[in-house]
Amino acid sequence: MKEQNKKLTIAEPIAERLRNGEKVICAKCKKGYYVTDAKYISTSHGFYCNRCNSMVNIDPVIDIE
Ligand SMILES: [Zn+2]
Repeated sequence: MKEQNKKLTIAEPIAERLRNGEKVICAKCKKGYYVTDAKYISTSHGFYCNRCNSMVNIDPVIDIE
């Protein structure tokens, strides 16, 4: 059983791109892009769309079983 694969969510590739400083277009409205209030992008756990406020939460290494 490859349980690991089930933990991949849509947020994972987005998180990586956001941390690289890319502008990621909102998956919901497809017009805004995700921004964060955090001082350092690499430590931010929450991004939101600057247009529709749709949230993207990034859980670093937390496993919830
Ligand atoms: Zn949006």
